[in-house]
Amino acid sequence: MADEDYYSLLGVSKNASLDEIKRAYRQLAMKWHPDRNKDPGAEEHFKRINEAYAVLSNPEKRQAYDMYGPEGFSQRYSPEDIFRGSDIERIFREMGFGADIFDIFGFGSGMGGMGRARQAYRDAGSDILASTSITLKEAFTGTTATVSLRHTKRCSVCGGTGAAQGSSKKRCQKCNGSGSITVTQRSMFGMIRTVTTCDMCKGTGEVIDNPCRKCNGTGKEAVSEKVEIKIPAGIEDGTRLRVPGMGDYGADRTGDLYLDVHVQKDRRFERQGNDLYTEAHVPFYTAILGGSIEIDTMSGKKDANIEKGSQTGTTLILEGEGMPTFKGRGRGDLVVNVVVDMPKHLSKEQQELIEKFRALEGKGKKKFGVF
Ligand SMILES: [Zn+2]
Ligand SMILES: [Zn+2]
Repeated sequence: MADEDYYSLLGVSKNASLDEIKRAYRQLAMKWHPDRNKDPGAEEHFKRINEAYAVLSNPEKRQAYDMYGPEGFSQRYSPEDIFRGSDIERIFREMGFGADIFDIFGFGSGMGGMGRARQAYRDAGSDILASTSITLKEAFTGTTATVSLRHTKRCSVCGGTGAAQGSSKKRCQKCNGSGSITVTQRSMFGMIRTVTTCDMCKGTGEVIDNPCRKCNGTGKEAVSEKVEIKIPAGIEDGTRLRVPGMGDYGADRTGDLYLDVHVQKDRRFERQGNDLYTEAHVPFYTAILGGSIEIDTMSGKKDANIEKGSQTGTTLILEGEGMPTFKGRGRGDLVVNVVVDMPKHLSKEQQELIEKFRALEGKGKKKFGVF
């Protein structure tokens, strides 16, 4: 797609109303319609005006265009997407032009066909899929993953033209640059016109006398490389991230990369939604008497208060110490399962103290807890 901004193409401001856009478009369409304007380049310009109108007259597409800019937008919307649902056909009927407006774009009627102008968008690169594995800690902080990719890129030698240095692309003589050949045959049903892809240029409309040796004239080369991909904090295991423009190169659209992110299991923390679950071991005397313990959280050690008489299975909740919300605000909680540790070995003095405790307990009859 050409570089000119849709707004400047229509000569309207960025915050133009739908009415202003419609008015500007009608005037320009009148001026540039190929039936009226025979200047060279008029048809091409007319197409661009229509494209601009199709996008800016649709609130959703306009918003995407404003958000991603011309390049990002064309990576997300195919020409069919752009014209889908537009009222261009109706406007043309109103203005008295033929309703077969999409023939000009080469979409054929109903835009399903594969016609001439659409060839300008035919070279679209494929989307590719890759995966990466990160730790829970990396998911907590967000990270940059280094991912090995094999994808096609624009040829580094010819810059994508496919032609060797000093050589250039020429218009295909056989199809006169249209990329397709129309054959008219007489049949029992009358004359039948069939359109086929030109075999000389394989439908590109161009031939190269001296193809680039690196890419054999394709304009592309396969590249294995490591790329760095930003992974937002809070990402969940199995999330598929879309990285626009990181797929296979195409002259008209470069594909996207879909990156499957695997978040490894963590030894200490288990995730459920944005909450994390962990265990904290508490010495029996702290459990009995109460006190403070240190708890490992994702962001370091935190002090937590153990209440007097805590049991194994008691839970503590550390608010906001869970996982961050993926592409959002706030954090989950850390749920701590208390495990009371009993000593396995006692010193002589400790043993005496516990025995003393038991003796006291015997006198008071089941005063202590559930024993
Ligand atoms: Zn090349
Ligand atoms: Zn040809």
